[in-house]
Amino acid sequence: MSNPQSILREHNLQALKRFGQNFVINPAVFDKVIAALPEDARVLEIGPGLGALTRRLLDSQKLDCVNEIDRGLIEILSRQFPGLKIIQGDFLEQDSRQLSQNNFNCVVGNLPFYITTDILLKIIRELPQVETAILGVQWEFAQRAAAATGSSLALFLQAAGDVTLLGKTDRKSFYPAPEVDAGWLLYRRAPKVRDLAVFEILTRGLFWGKRKNIGNTIRKNPHFAMHEVSKDWASTDLSSLAEITALRPDALNWELVYKLFCTLYPAEATK
Ligand code: SAM
Repeated sequence: MSNPQSILREHNLQALKRFGQNFVINPAVFDKVIAALPEDARVLEIGPGLGALTRRLLDSQKLDCVNEIDRGLIEILSRQFPGLKIIQGDFLEQDSRQLSQNNFNCVVGNLPFYITTDILLKIIRELPQVETAILGVQWEFAQRAAAATGSSLALFLQAAGDVTLLGKTDRKSFYPAPEVDAGWLLYRRAPKVRDLAVFEILTRGLFWGKRKNIGNTIRKNPHFAMHEVSKDWASTDLSSLAEITALRPDALNWELVYKLFCTLYPAEATK
């Protein structure tokens, strides 16, 4: 067991809520993360904090670099791990091209819960060299993301790759304990559509009116009219897809949404 509370006190620091700082007390929660790393993984760790997971990654000899926003923690990290490459700043504001000059092909992080979606989407959209991501997230988010249906995120993730749950972490494993449990999400890049950006326009737009059926949403959602690629979707003949257009977005699974996508965006179907 490590004691983040006393390390922080020693350095006159506190766990900062605004950076989503909940430090792992029991490093055994990282066992499944280390076990899931691909053989050839070169890891970028987001939010190393006090270095509990960083130490395990260094021991595995798969750590390339870390990115931490909190300067106070960076001081502790650089003393603890001389020679470690630390990128200071907000991961979401890092220039992706510059970040990609590092040598990582895998992202690992026990993330601040409030920016999980943005971090995951940045990895998928802007860092194509990342083949695997193992992310500690809020348990409910993990379940939603790994589900077959129910949200635009779940549908988008299925198009972008394979997502699995590596298990749950009790809130008592953290200092300070968050109000919710956490879970580890494993994402492996394996795109199933040619144009993910267009597919994302569709999945986001479909959930515009959660209570509306899909036919109505496609005809009326102003979101589709805003993009060149989807501006004519409202007038596409969807009469052959009546079993899909009558559904609400919650009911869509991967097969159905892909069928709809190929009709709205024929370039996809010629793949
Ligand atoms: N990895 C440590 C652990 O497991 O004990 C700390 C995890 S804590 C939940 C989240 C970490 O992410 C903190 O170190 C926090 O300072 C850092 N962080 C928060 N927002 C960040 C951002 N936008 N970019 C990079 N790091 C961030």
